[in-house]
Amino acid sequence: MAFVVAKVVPLRAGSFARGGLRMTPIGGESAELGWPSVVRATNREPVNMPSAEYLDRKIETASLKEVQKLQQAKLARQLDYLLARSLFYQDKLRAAGLRRKDFRRLRDVTRFPLTTKEELRESQAACPPLGRHMACDLDDVIRIHSSTGTTGKPSFVGLTRHDARMWTALTARSFYTQGCRKQDIVIHAAGLTLFVAGLSAKDAIEFVGAMFVPIGTGASEKALMAIQMLKATAMHCTPSYATYFADWVRREARLDPKELGLKKLFCGAEPGAGIPAVRAKIQEDWGARVTEGLGNADMAPIIFSECPDQSGMHFNGQEFVLVEIIDPESGESLPIEKGVTGELVYTSLERECVPLLRFRTRDRVTVLDTSCRCGRTGFKLRCVGRTDDMLIVLGVNVFPSAVRDVVSSFHPRTTGEIQIVLSEPGPKVAPPMKVVAEFAVGTSDLAGLKNEIEMKIKATLSVPVLVDLVASGTLPRYEMKGQLIKKAYEKKVLV
Ligand SMILES: [Zn+2]
Repeated sequence: MAFVVAKVVPLRAGSFARGGLRMTPIGGESAELGWPSVVRATNREPVNMPSAEYLDRKIETASLKEVQKLQQAKLARQLDYLLARSLFYQDKLRAAGLRRKDFRRLRDVTRFPLTTKEELRESQAACPPLGRHMACDLDDVIRIHSSTGTTGKPSFVGLTRHDARMWTALTARSFYTQGCRKQDIVIHAAGLTLFVAGLSAKDAIEFVGAMFVPIGTGASEKALMAIQMLKATAMHCTPSYATYFADWVRREARLDPKELGLKKLFCGAEPGAGIPAVRAKIQEDWGARVTEGLGNADMAPIIFSECPDQSGMHFNGQEFVLVEIIDPESGESLPIEKGVTGELVYTSLERECVPLLRFRTRDRVTVLDTSCRCGRTGFKLRCVGRTDDMLIVLGVNVFPSAVRDVVSSFHPRTTGEIQIVLSEPGPKVAPPMKVVAEFAVGTSDLAGLKNEIEMKIKATLSVPVLVDLVASGTLPRYEMKGQLIKKAYEKKVLV
């Protein structure tokens, strides 16, 4: 297949060289703005030698005002670049009747149009391999990742050398925030191929100076062998895998996972690890501290991560990503204050290959706090699910992860495994919503437990449910991401 590379036409010549575009150097502006350039430092040792608490103390503890000033200057620069080099955004802004001069202050960004994943998919289909939104020369792309395809066909994301360094700086800061240190031996029991948090985790963990052990998925024997022989201290995986692997270790190796000596589990790629009851169970299984991270395949592998205080994920990307929280229905930008719930929207601040403006993530989050005992000033949030996963029962929004949270709270009488069975495509679900939940071995009075769970879900989530209790081990386990919804309306095709 021949790749079609878009001819980039600048909206106006401005600061660009005649006779063709030259790449405006994006890296390094932090230094010009009075900040140490973390990105340039990824070539070498960190500019700020890490203290016990922070990898990049200055930016991680900067005031909101300082961060906004930096972001405003960087976004202005990113917009110059974007409008000169991205056909996709040239069209999009023209259609919205907006020009570069319409951005003067940071809050002006809310006037600019949102970008959806569907638009990026269409852009990529129309102009492979990376889409009309690609803003660099294809020759400058050094690596390709893809989205994990949670909601459809995977799409590619390209990185220039500068983008890769930026990802490393941000992802390393996120691992460091979670307590990853030079002395750690980290088992990577997550995807390694196209998955954004595979090779990027390698770069980041090595940048911190810890030892990266590439195990990948579907390799529990190798993971166990490596943990035992290397005396590993930490593991990076999905919360589903942490649960699956603990069961596997007990069943196949006849060992107690606690005895393996892991002290830190860095979880991500799905919401589970932030759900109190799920976290408690994983910590109990492994005798290790569980922290979680949140990223986005189109923006960066990990953008938010939890410090050992375990009180929500800090925003870690101050100089790389502008974060907004919007009302998913109206698109209105909401204040980032404690208690606010909405959809995360990202704008890149120094991306070269595929810079995105106001990208809708579909991740539904709640702001937990704007300060922390650890001293980081990045606000903290918890991801409550994806807006794509949201179900509506009698007009009430329900996230499958919230149902799992309630069922997990009955541990040790339940295993925490659930499935919501849909007889018709969502998001609207005819009441009562059908929930299959596992009871744990040795549990008696199943009728009483069923009644208690139904009452608690009704009281907590305001939706009527019909709970079907099944024996422990009945529901499928997932090594990668858990599936909390069973689409019973989809007939299986036998081949
Ligand atoms: Zn903290």
